[in-house]
Amino acid sequence: LFIAFEGGDGAGKSTQVGLLRDALEKSGRTVLLTRQPGGTPLGQQIRDLVLHGDHVAPRAEALLFAADKAHHVEQVIGPALAAGDVVITDRYTDSAVAYQGAGRDLGAREIHDLNMWAVDDLVPDLTVVVDVTAAEGRRRRGAVHDRLEAEQDDFHEAIRAHYLAMAQGSPERYLVVDGALAPDQIHDRVVERLRVMGVL
Ligand code: C5P
Repeated sequence: LFIAFEGGDGAGKSTQVGLLRDALEKSGRTVLLTRQPGGTPLGQQIRDLVLHGDHVAPRAEALLFAADKAHHVEQVIGPALAAGDVVITDRYTDSAVAYQGAGRDLGAREIHDLNMWAVDDLVPDLTVVVDVTAAEGRRRRGAVHDRLEAEQDDFHEAIRAHYLAMAQGSPERYLVVDGALAPDQIHDRVVERLRVMGVL
């Protein structure tokens, strides 16, 4: 079982992946918690390069993040799924489609196809979109931590709109939760959905 968490910066994804891991482990599942970019040593180097370096050409940014994903799927996610573990990832290919495709204006179709090739068409069973407005995300982040977070609100609103459009297009594979809710309420919505799926 493969679950991805998506959403803008400051949405509260990291809190949610932790809560879900605890719930699944309590029910006896073995869980691998990971993240993109940065789920492998190579990915961590890519993360540092792209997020904390100087200007990176948008197409180079897209290719580097895609390389992180390719390596992460082959080295970490694929083997864990093959072993029967539940894999929860903090960001996956939809981040690329939303950030590089819609936010950077590189074309959602092209970035989608590039990323699907990178991950050899591995699609999550469920993608949870934790939805926050750009203004709320900015407020929660507080200080700017990286190059992408420093972008203006219209960049983050374009990303948000694209996440919502992707979710609307495939409701069976997505759950959109209002990120303004309290963390335990968001978690309850996720648990509810996993119950419907027969996982919990
Ligand atoms: O959520 P996390 O802090 O791990 O994300 C790191 C940064 O990378 C965020 O600022 C996010 O906006 C950015 N990112 C991106 N494109 C991706 C994945 C992450 O711009 N494909």
